[in-house]
Formats: sequence, C-alpha cells, structure tokens
Amino acid sequence: MDGPPSHGRAFAYYTYGAASSLLQSLARDYPQLASLTTAQEAYGLRSAGTCTDSAGHQGPCLNHIIQISNRSANAAVLSARPQIYISGALHGDEQVGIVTALELCRWLLTRYATDDWVRRLVDTRMVLISPMTNAVGSATRRRDELGIDPNRDFPFDQSAGSCMQTVTARTVNEIYRAHLLQLVVTFHGGMQAPRTRYPASPRRPAGETPRAPLRRRSGTTGAPTRTGGACRAARPTTLRCGTWRRSCLDTPARGASTARRTATRR
Ligand SMILES: [Zn+2]
Repeated sequence: MDGPPSHGRAFAYYTYGAASSLLQSLARDYPQLASLTTAQEAYGLRSAGTCTDSAGHQGPCLNHIIQISNRSANAAVLSARPQIYISGALHGDEQVGIVTALELCRWLLTRYATDDWVRRLVDTRMVLISPMTNAVGSATRRRDELGIDPNRDFPFDQSAGSCMQTVTARTVNEIYRAHLLQLVVTFHGGMQAPRTRYPASPRRPAGETPRAPLRRRSGTTGAPTRTGGACRAARPTTLRCGTWRRSCLDTPARGASTARRTATRR
C-alpha cells in the first residue's frame, strides 16, 4: 500500500509524489527548523528521469535534500554545527530507507516542541537528509538510475571516466563537498545478514579470521540468511580505518573478478 502512514503508525512505502509532498509540507510547517532544496536547485545538477508528483503531474525527477537544524541562529553558527548526512536510498528498490529517512524528518520536527532531547539535537546539530537520493529509482522502485548502479558510480575502485555518471552519485558528491560531515548513514535493504560487532573487538586473537567470532556465536558456518536479492557469500572486509567487519552484500551475483568491489560496498 502506498502513501504516508496513518497516525496508528502503520508504516507504508511512499510514492515519489507522496514523499515529495511530505517534505514540502514539513518545510512549510516548520520554517524555523527545516529547509528544503533539491540537488538541481542547490548544485545545478541535471535531473534523471520523469517522476509524478502528488497531483499526478509529470516532471523531472528532483533529488530532494532537507536540512534540519534550528535556523534562528546566524549563518556562521549554523555552519559551525556538527553536520550529519543520511541517505535514504541509493538503490531505489530498497524502499525501507526512504520510509525511515522520511519518518526521521517527521520525528525530529514534530517532537521538537515537546521532547527535550530532540530539541537539543535540532538546536545544536545540522541533519541533512535525502530520503530519495536515487530519485528516479525510488519513483520506479528500481535499483539503478537509468541503467547505472549509483553505488558503483563513485570514484573508488572504478576506472577513470566511468564514474559519477548518475545524478544520485553526484548529489552525494556535492553534499560531501559542501559540508564537513562527521557522520554519514546510507540505508540499504532487502537482505538479512549476521554481523560481527563493529568496530571489531580488539581482543580478537592474532591470526583469527573475521568469520571466526561469528561462527562461535551462531554455532554455524556463519552463512548469511538469504531473503531475496542475491546475497551469496559473506566476505571479511578490511576497511581503510583499520577495523574489519563481516559483509554480506545485497548485490546481484557477480563473477570473481568483481569480488573485491562487491565485498567492500553494498
Ligand atoms: Zn543497496
């Protein structure tokens, strides 16, 4: 069922039009706390695809970005606040992130007046949220943006000249360039996987593989639960920050030549 959730909190997926309408209404209802823009307006990016708004009108898909922070402060104070960024959906068919991101927007704004913790957060932090980072994918519930996987479109482990082709990736790139982000959350969905603690315990015995703690805990081989998609195998992943994790991927099955890439990104 599409459309915004009822006040009974029966959460449901949003259409592009319903999500856009919610963001616009939140920005309109809470002008001191929220500011809504698009990657097209803020960064001059092109749009990808055609989307249908809540009135049924078709137009260019817009990559909405809402900024939540108490805007009564001057610009210098605003920009000096710790900034975090939450991406709802790089993959448009992973709709749970869109709902989560939109509900976070609603939660922060509607509870500001009555919840001391929310008020403190909104008064002292800047939260940037793009619920439908992959706008056309979100609208059509497709993983890709017009045939390109946005999560393989960043300039990492990618040949020069074949990255940053999607508006989705460029939106994320521009947000990174415009803000000094201290925390970034990117939602994915459609699979279940057991995980080791993150960051991993420093007490891991020397030489032990990342899979071993999980095997001890689960009493199994640690094989991930497959719930659709194509989560085929869990691979230990070394991160550049020096920690490690067990990663099970929501990517389609791939050949061995792309194993490294699929092991490091979801
Ligand atoms: Zn994904």
